[in-house]
Amino acid sequence: MLLPVTLYGDPVLKRKADEIAADYPNLKDMIKNMFQTMYVASGVGIAAPQVGVSIRVFVVDTMQLDVKRKSSPNTGIKKAFINATILEETGEEWKYEEGCLSIPGIREDVYRNAQVKIKYFDEEFNEIIETYDGINARVIQHEYDHIEGILFTDKLKPLKRKLLIPKLNKIARGEVDVDYRVKAYKK
Ligand SMILES: [Zn+2]
Repeated sequence: MLLPVTLYGDPVLKRKADEIAADYPNLKDMIKNMFQTMYVASGVGIAAPQVGVSIRVFVVDTMQLDVKRKSSPNTGIKKAFINATILEETGEEWKYEEGCLSIPGIREDVYRNAQVKIKYFDEEFNEIIETYDGINARVIQHEYDHIEGILFTDKLKPLKRKLLIPKLNKIARGEVDVDYRVKAYKK
């Protein structure tokens, strides 16, 4: 089932999301729907707050980039991260032009550490600790920020962010040109 993507301006995107218990209702369906919604919107990651649910769940599929780049060996991942905690971010900061399904039409360079060590639970609630780098780390860091209530635009220099305000206000009003379902916040 496709879910509407929450747009910038919705307070759910600014909230620190809650951990869930292993018996959280319909979790597998929710994860399936998040993947579907992400694919239709041509994303490589999506977090639960972006579909209006303030829980610590996000999904990532960077295997799509392996196909695009025909990279070998394939290094992409396709996973759901539940109740994730970043344990460590290390390595040089590097910039990458990020976008976000909740902030369509805006792409900006964001600086992040090269490696991330993360603890999370998989769909069977096995605890896993892994270290990622490259584009996998980048997408995980971006999605992790979502469950902490942080958007990539929050990480821009104040002047840059100021220049984006008119565009962000338009997005908040739902004035976006995308081919996936979105939901603007109604006060
Ligand atoms: Zn995002």
